[in-house]
Amino acid sequence: MELMSQLLAGKTAIILGVANKWSIAYAIAEAYRREGARIILTYQGDRLKATVEELGKELGAARILNCDVTKPEELEALVSEMAGERLDVVVHSIAFANREDLSRPFLETSRDGYLLAQEVSSYSLVSVARALSPLMTEGGSILTLTYLGSVRVIPNYNVMGVAKAALEACVRYLASDLGAKNIRVNGISAGPIKTASARGIKDFSKVLDGVAAVAPLKRNTDPAEVGDTAVFLGSHLGRGVTGNVIYVDAGFQVMGLQAPD
Ligand code: NAP
Repeated sequence: MELMSQLLAGKTAIILGVANKWSIAYAIAEAYRREGARIILTYQGDRLKATVEELGKELGAARILNCDVTKPEELEALVSEMAGERLDVVVHSIAFANREDLSRPFLETSRDGYLLAQEVSSYSLVSVARALSPLMTEGGSILTLTYLGSVRVIPNYNVMGVAKAALEACVRYLASDLGAKNIRVNGISAGPIKTASARGIKDFSKVLDGVAAVAPLKRNTDPAEVGDTAVFLGSHLGRGVTGNVIYVDAGFQVMGLQAPD
C-alpha cells in the first residue's frame, strides 16, 4: 500500500484550550501531530502550567506558552514570545460560563454571567485572530469549536448557546476581513463529548444518550473525528472553505421529529 503523505508537514499550529486528555483540543493536537505539524500549546495561568507541560511532552509540542485570553497583556506577551515565528494554523478551543447559568432557566441569566460567557467564548476569537493573524504571513487557517446550541434550544446550554451564536457570526465576519490575506476562518460544530467543560452543563449525560439514540449514525461523536476535520480545515485540502461551520456530530443536526415506534 502506498503511504499517504502527512497533510500538515511544514506547518506550525498554535492550539489554545488543552486542559487535559479529554479536551477536544487534545484530540486535535494528536491528529495534528500525526499529520506532521509543529505544535505550540497554550495554558491558562499557573494552575494548569504543569499539566499542559506534561501533555505537551506527550504530544511532542515545540513550545508551551501562557495565555489567558481575557487578559490583553497576556495576548500581547504571547505575540512577543512568538516574534519571528510563522504561524499557519490557529485552533481556538476555549469557552466558559458560570455553572449556575448552565442549570437554571435562561431567563434568569445575570448580566455578569452573560458578559463573561461572551467575553471568554466569543470575543476571544476576535482578539486571538487580531493578535495572531499578523504571524500568518503565508496565509493559513483559524478554527474554532462551536455547538448546535447556537441555532437550536438545547436544555441547559442557555447562555453558552447565545455565546456560540455570536461566535459563529464572528467566524463569518473574520473570514470576510482576513480572506484577502488568504487566511480562512471556520467553525467545527462538534456533537456532545464528555469533557471537563461539558460536565458543567446540568444533565449532560442525558444529552449524550438522546443524541446517540437519534443521530443518523446512532452513536456519539468521537473526539478523533473532530481532530480529523480540523486537519482537513488546517491543510491544503480545505483551501476553498472559509466562513463556514462544519458539523461533526454523527449527523444529529439534520434530524427533525423522530418517527414514532
Ligand atoms: P475543555 O477541555 O474544558 O476545554 C475548554 C478550554 O477552555 C480549557 O482548556 C480551558 O482552560 C479553556 N479556557 C477557559 N477560559 C479560558 C481563558 N480565559 N483563557 C484561556 N483558556 C481558557 O472542554 P472542551 O469540551 O474540549 O471545550 C473546547 C471547546 O469545544 C469549547 O469551545 C466548547 O464549547 C467546544 N465544544 C464542546 C463540546 C462538548 O460537548 N464537549 C461540543 C461542541 C463544542 P481551563 O481549564 O484553564 O479553564
